[in-house]
Amino acid sequence: MSTEEKLNIALKIGFGLVLLLLVSSMLIGLMQMSATNNRLEKIVYQDMVKRELALSSSLALYARLNKFHEMIMMSDVFEQEAESHNIRKLGLVYLDIRRKLEELAESDKERELLGNIREQVVKARPYTEKVITEIIAGDKDKAVTILRDKAIPNQNEVIDRINEYISFQKSEIDNAVKEAIDSYHETRLLLLLLGSATFFIGIVISIVAIRSVSIQAKLLQHQAMYDGLTNLPNRALFADRFNQAILYGRREKQSFALLTMDLNRFKEINDTLGHEAGDTVLQAAAVQVRGCLRESDTVARMGGDEFAVLLATATDLNGSITVARKILAAVKQPVDYKGQKLEIDASLGIVMFPEHGDNPDELLRAADVAMYHAKEGQSGYRIYDEELNDGMVSHLVMQNEIRDAINNNELVLHYQPRIDFRNNTINGVEALVRWQHPKHGLLAPDKFIPQAEQSGLIKPLTYYVLRESLMQCAEWKARGMTLPVSVNISAINIQDPEFPGQVARLLEEIDVPASQLELELTETAVMAEPVRAVECIKKLHDLGLQVAVDDFGTGYSSMAYLKELLVARIKIDRSFVTDMIDNHNDAVIVRSTVELGHNLGMKVIAEGVEDQNVWDRLKEMGCDGAQGFYMGRPLDPVEFLAWMNDSPWSSDK
Ligand code: C2E
Ligand code: CA
Ligand code: CA
Repeated sequence: MSTEEKLNIALKIGFGLVLLLLVSSMLIGLMQMSATNNRLEKIVYQDMVKRELALSSSLALYARLNKFHEMIMMSDVFEQEAESHNIRKLGLVYLDIRRKLEELAESDKERELLGNIREQVVKARPYTEKVITEIIAGDKDKAVTILRDKAIPNQNEVIDRINEYISFQKSEIDNAVKEAIDSYHETRLLLLLLGSATFFIGIVISIVAIRSVSIQAKLLQHQAMYDGLTNLPNRALFADRFNQAILYGRREKQSFALLTMDLNRFKEINDTLGHEAGDTVLQAAAVQVRGCLRESDTVARMGGDEFAVLLATATDLNGSITVARKILAAVKQPVDYKGQKLEIDASLGIVMFPEHGDNPDELLRAADVAMYHAKEGQSGYRIYDEELNDGMVSHLVMQNEIRDAINNNELVLHYQPRIDFRNNTINGVEALVRWQHPKHGLLAPDKFIPQAEQSGLIKPLTYYVLRESLMQCAEWKARGMTLPVSVNISAINIQDPEFPGQVARLLEEIDVPASQLELELTETAVMAEPVRAVECIKKLHDLGLQVAVDDFGTGYSSMAYLKELLVARIKIDRSFVTDMIDNHNDAVIVRSTVELGHNLGMKVIAEGVEDQNVWDRLKEMGCDGAQGFYMGRPLDPVEFLAWMNDSPWSSDK
């Protein structure tokens, strides 16, 4: 689980807890309120009422005693009768009150106290009756004596019991009040604790939330500024630093260096071993380059396999060259990918501010031009100079231009003869495209084919080349020359399901037998999409034309695999051929390729034969055919005809 996810979970738990605490505080508060209400009710409606009732009952008894005195004072028998009636009525009042008290009684203690009262009343009753009888009988003295000696003391006993009851009720009220206050204190404490906990947790989650937001903001900022794969600054951040460096350089009159770099065999690795391998290489390169730089320098990934380095402290060319060499050496370190050692190297273009430009676009373009030319040299780096610019065309402009070039017939084909070792005569030609550029002159294919591949324009381009070369083939045939022609096709073509159909239609339209056409595709192109390549090659093969694998030895394909591909010919890459006399390794590679190819039933052609020694050696090795400047350079159709007319390799001779 990422830190981010953990933080989110913690936040949710925190919020949940705060909510829970708030709800429980509320519930506890409400419960406390209703408990207090109950207590107050009890105090008011029961204890107070009971006390009042008890007081009234004792008042009723006092009143009755008074009535006895009044009755004794009376002389009229009727009045006395009436008064005795009042006395009984007061007795009933008392009884009524006591009954109510007994109904309200809740505790045993209350009932016991009421029982005591009742007991005393029962004891007192005969004496009070006696007093009334004696008064009515006219014996007032006896009545007074009974009243004084018996009835009043008894009555006082009753009143004492009632008072006992009253003080009990009073203590009950006091207890209830005390309990209410205690529970109020307890609840207040609990609410205080809950409140503090809520407050504390609230503060904590606020801090966590703020932190997580700021972490996420930082992450987003990082993503906007840094490349996700290599963690190097991206193009945007680089542009910013580059601008800063230029502003600073202008103000302080200080120069600095800009290096652009790309990896030489990156596309090949990506295509043959997959993106994961490509990613591993890019990450390794990023680490290695970073390791060669100072803290104040910037290396950024500009996209794909392109990097840019800003050497803020390199004030002269020598310093920049030293760093460039260091970078090149570092990048050369083999990269481990699933136990396989991948070897890559890089090309670097170097420019200085302000000598080579004083704005970002100019400097970047110049560095790109220099880098492009670095690929041709041995050292791996190149310092920009004006002359490099000639013949170099900026990528962007070119894409639109390529489209126009195809439509305006600016593409021309040169033909290079292929010589058969059996009879030392030409047995075919390879069509090689060039661009007769209105401004830059004749451009070699490596100056625009990669761009055409990137933009998809390679499809119309290949179609154009196929059409032109088949028409050329037909024209030669009309002149009596039967020359099979080889056309280079790119990886994009073999992935295009419409391609075989297009080839078939062209053959039919121009009326050239399929056996006169050979298609060359590089080993790398085959391995980029092996399944599709097999399908496509099968279809092309079924049309009756032949397929050759070009630049053999530079890719990662296995011979066994090629056998399945129905490949007629393999062409050994010229990098192994040209120096094979001096380079023993190259010679070994060429020899074993020839043998292996033959074992698999394929013809083997060598490219890049530049002198007789190589020619002889190849012949001796049993190679089937060869191409190269020694026998013939690629020539335009007119030159080619001239070559055919007087070359020792031409079949006519
Ligand atoms: P490639 O298919 O390997 O073509 C052979 C290249 O080797 C040609 O370069 C040719 O001029 C050069 N060459 C021939 N003999 C010698 C020699 O003895 N020594 C040296 N040093 N070089 C020799 P070119 O014409 O510049 O073509 C370069 C590449 O451009 C071709 O390599 C091919 O991959 C690509 N290309 C050319 N035309 C087309 C095309 O119509 N379509 C596609 N897709 N690619 C093309
Ligand atoms: Ca070729
Ligand atoms: Ca080749």
